[in-house]
Amino acid sequence: MNLLPKDIIYLDNNATTAIAPEVMEAMLPFLKDFWGNPSSAYRFGSQVRAAIETAREQVAQIIGAAPREILFTSCATESDNAAILSALETTGRQKIVTTQVEHSAIVKMGDFLKKKGFEVVRLPVQSDGTLAPETVDKAVDEKTAICSIMWANNETGVLFPVEEIAAICKSKGVLFHTDAVQAVGKIPIDMKQNKIDMLSIAGHKLHAPKGIGAIYIRKGVAFSPMVIGGGQERSKRGGTENVSHIVGLGKACELASNRIEEENTRIRALRDRLENHVLSTISHTWVNGSRKMRLPNTTSLGFDFIESEAVLTMLDHYSICASSGSACTTGSLDPSHVLLAMGIPPARARGSVRFSLSTYNTDSDIDKTIAVLPAIIQKLRAISPLGPENA
Ligand code: PLP
Repeated sequence: MNLLPKDIIYLDNNATTAIAPEVMEAMLPFLKDFWGNPSSAYRFGSQVRAAIETAREQVAQIIGAAPREILFTSCATESDNAAILSALETTGRQKIVTTQVEHSAIVKMGDFLKKKGFEVVRLPVQSDGTLAPETVDKAVDEKTAICSIMWANNETGVLFPVEEIAAICKSKGVLFHTDAVQAVGKIPIDMKQNKIDMLSIAGHKLHAPKGIGAIYIRKGVAFSPMVIGGGQERSKRGGTENVSHIVGLGKACELASNRIEEENTRIRALRDRLENHVLSTISHTWVNGSRKMRLPNTTSLGFDFIESEAVLTMLDHYSICASSGSACTTGSLDPSHVLLAMGIPPARARGSVRFSLSTYNTDSDIDKTIAVLPAIIQKLRAISPLGPENA
C-alpha cells in the first residue's frame, strides 16, 4: 500500500512514519464524538477512560508488559527525561551512566545535569558502534542512580545488548533505563525475560501520530513524576490525557506486533538490496556500524569525497527522502556525534546518508532509488574538490 503523497519515496522512517489508516480510523471517534474527559464520573467520560485502558493493554502487549506498567507521555523525549529525573529523585544518588551515542533527549539531559553538578559518565562505543557490557560493569557503582542505554541507535540501527547490561545493573543495585524508540515494533521485546526497569516508546516511529509516547516502569520500581499536577496516570503524570493519540498509539502497537516478522523478512530484504547495490556499484562506499547487530530497516551508508547534504538535496529532486542522521540535529553543520564516537573521521562522517524503511516501502521504491543514486554520487564526486581524482 502506498500511503504517501504521490511520487514521494519515503526512506526516512527513523525520523518519523506515516500514520497507518487503521490508526487514523481508530482515533477519529475520539476527536469527533467521544471527547469527554476520561476523569469524569458519568458514562460520557468513563467510555473514554475505557478506550485509554484498551490502548494501555495494546502497548503493554507489544513489549510483554502488564498494562499497569505503562504510563502515557507526550513523547519519547519526555519519557527519557522522566526516567532519569525520577531515578535521581528516588535514589538520592548523584551519578548517571550512559553512552556517547544516545539521542539528544538523553545527551542534552546529561549536559543539563552536569551543569547542576551531577556526575555524567558517557561510555565510548567500539568502531562498529556496539558496546561491550564489561564497559558498563566497570562504570556502574554504588554512586550510580541510573544507567541509560538505547536499545537501537537511530542513526546506524546498531543494537545494544541491553538485556545483558540490565542484568549487570540489577546485580549492582542500579536502575536501568533503555530508550527503545527505534526498537519497539522492529524486533521482538519481552519485558518478562529481562531486568530492564524503565523503557521509552515513541508513537510516531511506529505509524502512530507525533506527540504521543509511553514509558514502561517495572512493577515495584519507584517513580517520581516529572509532570506534576492532577491525579491522571495513577498520579504518575499530571495533565488531561491526549485520548485520541493514546488510542492511536494502542492501535499502532497492535498492528506493529503483527508485523515484526515482516520487518525481519521483507523489509530486511529491501534494505539489504539497497545496501548491496550501493556497495557493489559505487566505489569508496561503506556501511557505518555493525551489519550483524542491527535493526532490519536501517542502513547508514558512507560515501567518500562528498558531503551528505548535497546527496540529500539531489535525492530530494527525485522526491526521495533520506537523512544525514538524526532529524533532531538537521541543520547542524557538525558531523554526527554517533559516527564520531565510532572513531569515523569528521570528513567521512559528513559523507554519510541514512536510509530507513517501513512496512509501506515497496520494491519499486528501492528500484527507483538505486536507479538514481550511483549517478548522483558520480556527479557530485566529479565536481568535488575532494573527489578521487583530486584526493
Ligand atoms: N530517542 C530516539 C532514539 C529517537 O530516535 C527519537 C526521535 O528521533 C527520540 C528519542 C525522541 O522522540 P520524540 O521526538 O518523539 O520525543
